[in-house]
Amino acid sequence: GDYNQKIDYVFKVVLIGDSAVGKTQLLARFSRNQFNVDSKATIGVEFQTKTLIIDNKTVKAQIWDTAGQESGSMYDGSIWWGLGYRAVTSAYYRGAVGAMLVYDMTKRQSFDHMSRWLEELRGHADTNIVIMLIGNKCDLGTLRAVPTEDAQEFAQRENLFFMETSALESTNVETAFLTILTEIYRLI
Ligand code: GDP
Ligand code: MG
Repeated sequence: GDYNQKIDYVFKVVLIGDSAVGKTQLLARFSRNQFNVDSKATIGVEFQTKTLIIDNKTVKAQIWDTAGQESGSMYDGSIWWGLGYRAVTSAYYRGAVGAMLVYDMTKRQSFDHMSRWLEELRGHADTNIVIMLIGNKCDLGTLRAVPTEDAQEFAQRENLFFMETSALESTNVETAFLTILTEIYRLI
């Protein structure tokens, strides 16, 4: 890359949602165009960056990914998120201008938990944060447990952008990130 590149904006975007919905693989696909078949739970909080051009401006997307306890627990990294480690939670959301609320379209429960994730997000994040609902794993269409219409309805009611993606097949991943980043840019 061009290391002398001038950065006009840095946009922090956080990924949230239940464990194993594909947050880490969505990020790997977007930032490095990679997918790891046996991805390990994310340890700690980490972020990846990707620099792109929006409206002739250089935008550095800083995408944050949570620690995952691959235990099927409701909250990803429930050790941190469930038991009152509020400092970590606050740090995670601090300065975020975008959030991707990810569920696994083959796991109804991960979609049913979206309202709780949204509640936590709205409790911590800036009121102007741009939020996108993501139904991941659309490559597993035959196992679908969440109709597109259910998600659309929820997104409309809660004023969220919505997209169905596959980190595995690279479907809509770039589009989803570009859409949220462009909307963030539009609002600044
Ligand atoms: P996280 O806990 O939300 O970060 O989920 P991961 O990104 O670690 O993914 C959990 C599991 O789902 C892993 O076995 C991934 O390989 C798998 N996975 C992630 N995205 C997709 C996808 O788009 N399609 C399919 N079929 N599997 C996926
Ligand atoms: Mg992860």
